[in-house]
Amino acid sequence: MNIKKGDKVKMLSGKDRGKTGKVSSVLNKAETGRVIVEGLNKVKKHQRARKQGQKGQIIEVERAVNISTVQLICSSCGKPTRVGNKIDGETKVRICRKCQAQI
Ligand SMILES: [Zn+2]
Repeated sequence: MNIKKGDKVKMLSGKDRGKTGKVSSVLNKAETGRVIVEGLNKVKKHQRARKQGQKGQIIEVERAVNISTVQLICSSCGKPTRVGNKIDGETKVRICRKCQAQI
């Protein structure tokens, strides 16, 4: 899993293809993880009235997308990129495959 909360990503498919947004949460840490991107992949949900006298309403929620449908945007070169990993001493760091900068 190479995408973390707070990363800027570009959407590669779906109705928001080509748009960019910030990852607001990562749903699980597995390789097949899903992420929620702020303001993207919104779906309308019809919320029913729970009590009498209350109105049902339509709310928009961001739906999680598969990690493979987003691409990280490098904060250094500003381009969508694949992420590489580099071992830096004891820690593993993420690097941009395009400009080699640490992300
Ligand atoms: Zn870069």
